Amino acid sequence: MNSTIEVYAESALGDYGFGDNHPFGNDRLGAFKREFIARGLDQLVALPPSRLATSEELLRFHTQDYLKRAQSLSKIGFGYLDLGDTPARLGIFDAAARVVGTALEAAESLMSSDTRRCFLPIGGLHHGRRDSAGGFCVLNDCGVVIETLKQQYGLDRIAYVDIDAHHGDGVFYEFEDDPSLLVADIHEDGRFLYPGTGMSEETGRGRALGLKLNIPMLPESDEAAFLNEWPRVLEHVAQFSPEFIMLQAGADSVVGDPLTHLEFTPACHRHACRTLCDLADSLSSPLMIMGGGGYNLHNIAQTWCGIVEELLIDL
Ligand SMILES: [Zn+2]
Repeated sequence: MNSTIEVYAESALGDYGFGDNHPFGNDRLGAFKREFIARGLDQLVALPPSRLATSEELLRFHTQDYLKRAQSLSKIGFGYLDLGDTPARLGIFDAAARVVGTALEAAESLMSSDTRRCFLPIGGLHHGRRDSAGGFCVLNDCGVVIETLKQQYGLDRIAYVDIDAHHGDGVFYEFEDDPSLLVADIHEDGRFLYPGTGMSEETGRGRALGLKLNIPMLPESDEAAFLNEWPRVLEHVAQFSPEFIMLQAGADSVVGDPLTHLEFTPACHRHACRTLCDLADSLSSPLMIMGGGGYNLHNIAQTWCGIVEELLIDL
């Protein structure tokens, strides 16, 4: 077992999902774990437990009003937490609070131990806003982690990279004018896919102008198109010399996803992971990778296990 790589895959994390008839079902973690165990990867990494986030931690990013509303709707188990994408499933608030708490546990481990790389398959809920759910995301683990790194650890150079098919609007707009967060987001062009944002002209505001990079890709963009754009992402991140690097590695950008139209391959995610590991090592920065979206279970298993294999190289 290698204590410098952590994979947070406790079964309770699989509670975050919206049931069998929803694209974001409850077997996404199971699909990953079956392949993870079949490849023997569970023997090579540390497997820490999950935990719930506290209200105080959630309030670092979310508003009190929204937390109250989401918590009470999730107890009733009826209706939506946004305009119709994110059902208020019974118990979904606690399941989301577990995703966030686990991400905080990973961040804490990366900041205070010899852990250098973490993977959180159920994580990267990048559409959650401070005061609303969005796109299957009840809370935003990325947002809470970023605020925690700033407020509790005093970091002022954090890099957030996102290769999920959807634009990470909940991270992008909630930190649009924040000079301590660099964003690099490759996604399907918003003219063709939810949430409809992330144009290349959007580069940040105020003191953060130029710090945010959006790379919208046309439907059917493939591995070659990804590899062609990726050096811009790496260069953008490297010139910031981040103290902490996060990657939202959504598997819904891989060809065959039922909700999107990109045609990347698991090799794209491996390449992103490999090159960010190298960059993180050269900067002595921790690297946190979240599984993000992905609605084709085969793709989830192949893509996320490929990421874990890359994390294990060159330790
Ligand atoms: Zn997505």
